[in-house]
This record gives sequence, structure tokens and C-alpha cells, in this order.
Amino acid sequence: MAESSHDPAVEAGRIWSDALTLLKHNSALSARDKGWLEGVVPEAVFGTTIVLCVANAETQRALQTDMSQHLAEALRMASGADMFPAFKIAPEAMPVRAAEPAPVIAPAPSVEFPRQTPAMPEGEAVASYPSHALSDASLPPAPMAAPQPAAYPAGNNRVIQDPETHLNKNATFDNFVQGSSNRFARTVAMAVAEGTGSNYNPLCIYGGSGLGKTHLLNAIGNYALAKDPSLKVRYVTSEEFTNEFIDSLRSPTSGKGQVSEFNRRYREVDVLLIDDIQFLGGKNETLEQFFYTFNTLQQANKRIVIVSDVAPNKLKGFEERLITRFNSGLTVDVQPPDLETRMAILRMIASNNRYTIPDDALELIAQRFTENIRELEGALTRVTAVASLSSQPVTRALAEQTLADFFTIDVEIKPTDIIGQVAKYFHITFDDIVGRGRTKQVNQARQVAMYLTREMTSMSLMDIGAVFGGRDHTTVMHAYDRISREMQEKQEIYNYVTELTIRLKQHPSGDG
Ligand code: ADP
Ligand code: MG
Repeated sequence: MAESSHDPAVEAGRIWSDALTLLKHNSALSARDKGWLEGVVPEAVFGTTIVLCVANAETQRALQTDMSQHLAEALRMASGADMFPAFKIAPEAMPVRAAEPAPVIAPAPSVEFPRQTPAMPEGEAVASYPSHALSDASLPPAPMAAPQPAAYPAGNNRVIQDPETHLNKNATFDNFVQGSSNRFARTVAMAVAEGTGSNYNPLCIYGGSGLGKTHLLNAIGNYALAKDPSLKVRYVTSEEFTNEFIDSLRSPTSGKGQVSEFNRRYREVDVLLIDDIQFLGGKNETLEQFFYTFNTLQQANKRIVIVSDVAPNKLKGFEERLITRFNSGLTVDVQPPDLETRMAILRMIASNNRYTIPDDALELIAQRFTENIRELEGALTRVTAVASLSSQPVTRALAEQTLADFFTIDVEIKPTDIIGQVAKYFHITFDDIVGRGRTKQVNQARQVAMYLTREMTSMSLMDIGAVFGGRDHTTVMHAYDRISREMQEKQEIYNYVTELTIRLKQHPSGDG
């Protein structure tokens, strides 16, 4: 059982992804410093050397001088040992800095927009738009985001959040499969992203959990930015919006200045993308602020897209005047995908990850997971993990066997049940998991528990962070990514997750 991957590229991708997360959260680094990191692509690990491809000598210099200590520290934390970066200048593979003439904003010239995503991708890898890293024109020139290394497993569900716009760069129109359940939503979303959908302001997208609403919302932002990098785009969940508003009131330096800073930030955006608006229901002061922000933006013809789990007129705890505003634009829904679309989604993920999976195995998965695309992806992840760990090809029989345990009737599982079960499983306490301890064992148990909470409940990242002792949503995101990846590489981690899932499904509250 390999402790780590023997593929130098996979290993480099894994270490760099963790190191990058750490560096992006390092408050000692300025926005300019962090900008240098965007163009870096890990190539391979050889012993204690990690080869990093950079766009130009300038980037290399920055990484070797001002940032070298932070870089070394992050690499050490990500790999568990001292690592030495070796740099390779590979300009042709790299995006050009945003300050330069910009033929690189979109892979295709902008006249080619909109580009249709085929309903059934025919087995070729699906590209995603590079999006620029920083949206604030007052900041120093921002390097372009690097294409993600495709060397390690990365389903659509891998979130790569831009620190400025908060967009998930991994959610694009290119990797959004269309079918009858979402075609209309996708088409108008594309029009809004194009800037031709001025009648659809605001655009409201609603529908059940795991049906691609957040994906579409991010795709709009990524596309709009790819087309016009000077736009100020902001993706925000209603929870973040609320928290930022509350912080602006609470801040010790506050007074009116802070609230107006909050107002300025939101009223200056060109494209406001607000997710899961239903959570604003009943929060009257926040709603009041939101109402003003909304009006200001709408009057200035700025684009607003709102996502909700119910149709606007079914929203609870919202004043009539706001619902009327929401209805003044266009409302579209997304439905559970039909079989053909589910197959297309599975094929796309398989192709992006270079998995070879026979159709009858994909069919089995597509037939059994009908209501939620997140669960559909999760099922594929589990099947490919078993295959890769046991060095077998994926077959229908293997898929059947792997998934058998997950077809139990849906039971509602509470995050506290998950924490309790995980604690018991690892022979530690509930308090250890939600506490501050950072031993290897506690850390791992905590990450597994976060992963399971994300998988088995419909809680948001932020809510999960709150349950786990008030941690930041990025910590949860990082834990989720890490465990998803490690499941593919380490038998041990796969076993933990599988055994715990089965236990939780059979005995949610831990008795028995
Ligand atoms: P929602 O916000 O509606 O709960 P998400 O947008 O988070 O759902 O989608 C859940 C997962 O399914 C994400 O990983 C997303 O990328 C994927 N997904 C949803 N719809 C599609 C689609 N049409 N094509 C490809 N992937 C999709
Ligand atoms: Mg969502």
C-alpha cells in the first residue's frame, strides 16, 4: 500500500496544491506576492526537489527572493519534509500577465463566443477558461491563472477559489453538461455572461440541491471575466454577505465609515453573483442592505444573478418589495438530469481524469443516482478509487459491488452524529475533533469528519466550519479536497471513509 504516489507528476500536483492553499492564506504575503503564484505549474518531484514551471524570469526571481522563505515553509508543510524548488521557465505553456496585451484571456478569440458545449461530449478532454486572478484595477498587474495540472484526480467538484472574485475557477460552461433539465438555464446564464442578457436582470436560478446552480453561477462569472478582464465580478454566498455586513457593523474602527466601505465594495461591482439567497430570509437588517445594493446595481444596469433553492415567490422571510424586484428580471429553474445527461456528465468526468470505464458500468451508476449530481459524482469517485487502489479495471461488477453499500434508504444524518462516529472510530473524543489540537491523528480524523459532513449532509462549507469549532470555510474546503484526493491514493484513507459511511448509514447516532 503506497504511502504516497510514485508518479512524480501526481506527487508534484498534490504537494503544490496544498502548498498553494497555505500560501494563499498567508497574511504575510501581499496581493502582489500572491499574484506570482498564479502562473506556477508543478511538473514533478524527484526526491526532495520539486520542479516548478514559471512563466518568466521575473516570477522566478520573486519566488527565489522575497517569497523564498514562505515558499519553503509551505512546501515543507505540504510534503512533511524539507523540499527544494527548482525552477523551469516555460513561457509557451504559461498564460501571459494580464497587464500585457491579452490574447490569452480566452482560449478562443472572443468572436467565437458563445461556444456550444455538446450535450454529449465525445470523449475528449474538456478545457476550462482561464480566468484572471485579481479583479481590482487598483492592484498590481495580476498574472493569469495557470491551467490546473491534470495529473491528479480532479472532478468538477474540486473547488479552486479565486481570492479576489471568490469564483470557483473550476466551474465553467465548458464543463457544464447540458440536457433538457438545464438547457434553458444554461442558455440564459450564457447570455448574461456574454452581456447580451440585459433583459434578464436580475436572473434568478432556482432548483434542488446538487443540480448545478452554483456551477452555473460561477460559470457566468468566469466567462464574463474571460471576455472582459476589467470587469469587477463578485461571487458571494448569502452567508458571506451576512457575515461581511455584520463584521462591518462590529468592527472596532467602525462607525459609519465601515458600513460605507461595505456598501462601496458591493455597489462598485459590475457582476454580482449571489448564491443560496434563501439563507437571507428573516435577516432583516442584512436584507435592508441587500435591497439598497440591489437597487443601486440594477439602476446602474449592472448584472445581478441570484440563486435560490425555491422560486422567488416561495422565499420565506423576504419582504414583498424584494420579491417583486427579483421577479422583475427572469426566473429559470434547473431540474434533475435525465439519464442521457447523467451519462454525459459521468463520461465527461471520466474523460477529464483519463479513466477508462465501460459504458455498462457508467450506466449502472447513472441509473442509480438520479436526483443529485453531487452524489452521482461521488459514486463515480468511489468506484474509481476502489479500482485504482486494487489495480483492477473498472467493470460493471466492480461498480455494483462497490456501490452496494450505498444504496440503503436515505437516512438523515446530523453533523454531530458524524463527529461522534468519527471520534469513536479513531479512539479520540468529540472535543478533540472540534478542538484546536493538531496532532497527526486528530488532524486526519477532523479532515475525514469534515469530508463526510460535506458528503452526507446538505450543509454549506461555512456551516460545517461553524460546527467544527468555528473554523473558516476554506479549512473545510481544503479538508474536502485533500480527503477526496487521498482516497484515490491511499487504501487506508479509502477504508476509513467507506467504513464510516456504512456505519453512519446503518447507525446514524452511533448506537449499535
Ligand atoms: P447546487 O448548487 O445546485 O447544489 P452544484 O452547482 O454545487 O449544485 O453542483 C453539484 C456538483 O455537480 C458540482 O460538482 C457541479 O460541478 C456538478 N454539476 C452539476 N450540474 C452539472 C452539469 N450540468 N454538468 C457537469 N457537472 C455538473
Ligand atoms: Mg449550490
